[in-house]
Amino acid sequence: MPIEIPLENRIFVNRTLNLNSIKLIGFDMDYTLILYNEDSLEDLAYRGAIEYLLSELKYPKEISKFTFNPSKVIRGLVVDKQEGALLKINRFGYVKAALYGHSFLERDQLKRKYQDFTVHFNDSRFEVFPTMFNLALGCLYSDLVELGNLKKTYEELFLEVTEAINEIHRNGYLKSRIISDPARYVRKEPELIDTLLMFKSFGKSLALVTNSEWDYTDQIMKFVCQDFLGKLKNWSDLFEVVVVDAQKPDFFSGNNKFYEVISQSGHLKNVTGGLKKGGIYQGGNSKEIEKLFQVSPSQILFVGDHIYSDVYQSKRSCRWRTMLVIHELEEDLLAAKGAHSHLASIEELMKEKEELELNVDVLKMEEKGCLLRKDPFHQNPKDLPLLREEIKKIDESVRVEILEFEKNFNIHWGELMWAGNDQSYLGMAIERYACVYTSRVSNFLNYSPVHYFRPKLKTYF
Ligand SMILES: [Mg+2]
Repeated sequence: MPIEIPLENRIFVNRTLNLNSIKLIGFDMDYTLILYNEDSLEDLAYRGAIEYLLSELKYPKEISKFTFNPSKVIRGLVVDKQEGALLKINRFGYVKAALYGHSFLERDQLKRKYQDFTVHFNDSRFEVFPTMFNLALGCLYSDLVELGNLKKTYEELFLEVTEAINEIHRNGYLKSRIISDPARYVRKEPELIDTLLMFKSFGKSLALVTNSEWDYTDQIMKFVCQDFLGKLKNWSDLFEVVVVDAQKPDFFSGNNKFYEVISQSGHLKNVTGGLKKGGIYQGGNSKEIEKLFQVSPSQILFVGDHIYSDVYQSKRSCRWRTMLVIHELEEDLLAAKGAHSHLASIEELMKEKEELELNVDVLKMEEKGCLLRKDPFHQNPKDLPLLREEIKKIDESVRVEILEFEKNFNIHWGELMWAGNDQSYLGMAIERYACVYTSRVSNFLNYSPVHYFRPKLKTYF
């Protein structure tokens, strides 16, 4: 009997992946190799964006009193820029929950606004939150919608909050604060380095491909890796090539030029005579990386946290194999474990209910002089009012169990991967674009570097 890997540390498989045939593993950095303390980092982004709105866009002073509430937004939500709402949609694009300002729409309001309506992303009215970096954006947007009276359309409001968040990422506001106090924002995880060293000992080539610039990458990777490097001198020795400011997703589809980074000074120089292993580069493109390592697309696994920039594009444009890292999945899986007894009770109650409903069907058919080919209740019929009473009691018990089950997950939005009984949009996107997915890179330590990942067997029952 194999040792059971805890649910929260498993790697989940959508498409077969044989690690034995993978020669090169590329990693994104932010929220992939490096796990941030999401609440502290997003609070910093939230405060920074407010400062920007106050100073640059002259928003009213009262927004300085806003406080960041991290539970209000989860990855995979969709912004409806026309209505000023955040939506949770299912795999078919139907809206299952909507937050307007600080209030969720009641069932009848939801029906009025979104019934018979599906969200399509070719409509610019909608935008999805594909990474953890969107938490501050979503939270600030709904706080401003709640405030009202800003004499702006919801769309203008969203554009300005997006501008504020992008600007503090671009102008160094966030990075300078993270670097000055990394212990507050960045998690140190020795197992991460163990994972990379394990892959190296099996002869896998490793690459870092990040959109962050060299200075920030160097300082953060140093902070996370330095104490655990063993015989290696620098964190960059973990990788055969490091690419900063990679401009993903263009990196996967374009022909951008590589520049060599002089690691001591951060200065750039032209690449002469092609890329070299051990090099640190800026910009560039995926084709040159394939050439450097002389590998085919199916021999490359790219690991990232951004559903589109890292996973969708590397798969679509390059046919690389993909792994998505969803750190918050860990919390959801722990919650699912804690809520398991409620799920089991719901399943049991639903079985009872189905049996009673079948009994009702049999009685109704008898009224019309019909019989089921196999009537399981023929010997022991119950009367209709009694059956209806029992079904009502079960419905109430199911309702209570569902409420208890849901209490374990995000208080506002519930499970990440599910929207009621359907897969959520996020769950669908993960299944469609990622070959495998997990909550952190170090979960590889539960598997050998030549493991054959297979999806669950197909079953009709
Ligand atoms: Mg990232």
